[in-house]
Amino acid sequence: MQKTKQPVLRDIVLVGGGHSHVGVLRRFAMKPMPGVRLNVVCRDTHTPYSGMLPGYVAGHYDYDEVHIDLRRLAEFAGARFYQSEAIGLERSAHQLICNNRPPVVYDRLSINIGSTPKVNAHRGDADHAVAVKPIHRFNARWLKLLERVRAHAGPLHIAVVGGGAGGVELLLAMQHRLRNERAQLGHDPDALRFSLFTRGETVLPTHNAAVQKRFTRTLRARGVDLHTHSAVSAVDAQGLSTESGQHHTVDEVIWVTRAGGAEWLQNTGLDLDVDGFIEVTDTLQTVTDPHVFAAGDIATMVNHPREKAGVFAVRQGRPLAQNLRRSLEDKPLRNYHPQRHWLALISTGNQYAVASRGPLSAAGGWLWQYKDAIDRRFMARFTDLPAMEDNETKAPRASVALEGEEAKQAISAVAMRCGGCGAKVGASTLSRALGALRPAQRDDVLIGLHAPDDAAVVRVPPGKAMVHTVDFFRAFIDDPYVFGQIAANHALGDIFAMGAEAQTATAVATVPQGLERKVEDTVLQMMSGALDILNDADCALVGGHTGEGQELALGFAINGLIDDSIEGIMRKGGMQPGDALILTKPIGTGTLFAAHAQLKARGRWIDEALDSMRLSNRVGASCMHAHQASACTDLTGFGLLGHLVEMTRPSEVDAVIDLSALPVLRGAEDTVAAGILSSLQPANVRLRRAIQNPEHMVEHPRYPLLFDPQTAGGLLASVPAAQAQACVTALIEQGYPQTTIIGEVKAQGDALAPIELRR
Ligand SMILES: Cc1cc2nc3c(=O)[nH]c(=O)nc-3n(C[C@H](O)[C@H](O)[C@H](O)COP(=O)(O)OP(=O)(O)OC[C@H]3O[C@@H](n4cnc5c(N)ncnc54)[C@H](O)[C@@H]3O)c2cc1C
Repeated sequence: MQKTKQPVLRDIVLVGGGHSHVGVLRRFAMKPMPGVRLNVVCRDTHTPYSGMLPGYVAGHYDYDEVHIDLRRLAEFAGARFYQSEAIGLERSAHQLICNNRPPVVYDRLSINIGSTPKVNAHRGDADHAVAVKPIHRFNARWLKLLERVRAHAGPLHIAVVGGGAGGVELLLAMQHRLRNERAQLGHDPDALRFSLFTRGETVLPTHNAAVQKRFTRTLRARGVDLHTHSAVSAVDAQGLSTESGQHHTVDEVIWVTRAGGAEWLQNTGLDLDVDGFIEVTDTLQTVTDPHVFAAGDIATMVNHPREKAGVFAVRQGRPLAQNLRRSLEDKPLRNYHPQRHWLALISTGNQYAVASRGPLSAAGGWLWQYKDAIDRRFMARFTDLPAMEDNETKAPRASVALEGEEAKQAISAVAMRCGGCGAKVGASTLSRALGALRPAQRDDVLIGLHAPDDAAVVRVPPGKAMVHTVDFFRAFIDDPYVFGQIAANHALGDIFAMGAEAQTATAVATVPQGLERKVEDTVLQMMSGALDILNDADCALVGGHTGEGQELALGFAINGLIDDSIEGIMRKGGMQPGDALILTKPIGTGTLFAAHAQLKARGRWIDEALDSMRLSNRVGASCMHAHQASACTDLTGFGLLGHLVEMTRPSEVDAVIDLSALPVLRGAEDTVAAGILSSLQPANVRLRRAIQNPEHMVEHPRYPLLFDPQTAGGLLASVPAAQAQACVTALIEQGYPQTTIIGEVKAQGDALAPIELRR
């Protein structure tokens, strides 16, 4: 979350989490720029450090040792993290277009998205070959190949296309690992065959002759079939063909050839070189637009063209951070001149490396040790994040250059603010933000946002009764769009849990004060997220109130409709002895977000928790209803135990929870084991007296999760035993893959302690 309460005056948007941007994030974390907010838009939450990638394949490192957790790094830097893919740029509106969210507005934009393999340039290669990047696709395919090699003792032929350092290094690493795997299983490692195809007359064409000779010797000594002068022209299910017309039968093709710039850059109006890379000046600004910067592989420095290598991307982090700052301060930017020669340490898979610098070369196990030490030191800068002191009170005033109306707004934003109606967000700001939204249209809404008035007027259809609920909470993540989605989903949960359909919603929000256009954008992003969810539920947003506040917060009063008869309503009371207890989503959001705030959660755990929180309970509730659920509720702040007790009490029954059956979000057991709990947990734990047999259970690793408060949690229902398995199967099919029977309902014993735990 953003660590400063100073108003946001400028947004720097970093596109891609490449080697330069991780450096920028760290530098801004160590020295924040008051009034400036960083936003990171990245397709992958965990970004690979390419220097260690071959070591990961060779089995020397695990996944987390070679990936930078961008979500965590962004949290450390107080930056917003958007897990999203950039697909376009509207430079006139200063907007980045993304694949899964509204456009992201920037004052300065920086692009560090690496290069894109040209897989479609050859017939069939997109279907039958795997490119090393993007890494998440390579990793999945690599793990599959690993499994295949483990499971199958027979011959397997693997081809790598590309004779540069990346291709050679990767091939040798794969060979080392896969032969070891086979040998360990008692299978014949020699049944694995490797081939390298390269267009040129030698491998590593950009390195000196001694390095080329060393690697040619190594490849031959390791039994690799080296095909030089062999440009691959097509790949099919059986193998690959070269331009000379030869077909080679292979089982796997790995593509590590020269890459180009991403396709979407073609429509940005930015000047690109022949390979589609963005042309930048010595200040790392694009030659086209001084507000747009680029670094790493995707950038070509027009005055200093260099090979595409991670080492340059890393080095550019510093001047990029400096020039982004200076640009916002309206100070002259500094020129950066990349080095002409650099030290490349290229490994051979078996903890041995070759050094190459200009005309020099050397080789040995000690060089691998040296490379390993350098790489680990680099990664430690992004994984061992120092505790930061709260500098809020000593924070200097914003130093960004502001003029005219914006300067007045900035002064007003930090001045004493009025309360009462004086704390409302300005009407024009609000109407601009809300004007872009398209709420669901319903015939039963007589007066709503389409014809705004003092209040909304909504018809209750004949034979229907109304269902009312309200929820409101502070943002727990910095992404207003995702926060809006979750706040709406959370509020709708009560309606669905009753077996009702949602009809209308009114919103209440607080937004931190700031420049009007920043406030407007935050409202737009947040309400767009909320509308995605409300519209999907056919719930019309009919009004709301937005005020200024210290923190971003959002809630909804929701009206639902239900048949006007008490019978069809899924209530909390109604559980019958013998019923099965079904839970539709995993638990653990409270502890995970507490850990995220302390930088102790992995980014992928948070991604999965957010996905779970965005999953609507609407379909699940209909399914529960169709399987004659005798009682139902949605899990929220009181946690599993609290909500279950709310069901057993009015039902006058007991319940058994099987701790081993509980669906739990990935990482939640780790974070509770580390003692990281939500601030609401102690209040929830007071309910432990409802447990019949707490002895020995307190030690169970999942025990604390019984009290973990949930945001937008799943449905908990009791379903007749005869229907339970069919209900679970249907729920899984309908999009709740972690649905589980977590226990059963029993006849009432001691009403004060209705819950029995099983291991
Ligand atoms: C096997 C292999 C080994 C290598 N070893 C070395 C080495 O030892 N030393 C060396 O100097 N170089 C090495 N390289 C080269 C190196 O990989 C690249 O030069 C380097 O990764 C470029 O870094 P970058 O910061 O430009 O981008 P990348 O590291 O490629 O990062 C790009 C980031 O942008 C994100 N992204 C991409 N597209 C989008 C989008 N549209 N929207 C949002 N996010 C996006 C990605 O998720 C990723 O986080 C190796 C390459 C390979 C293939």
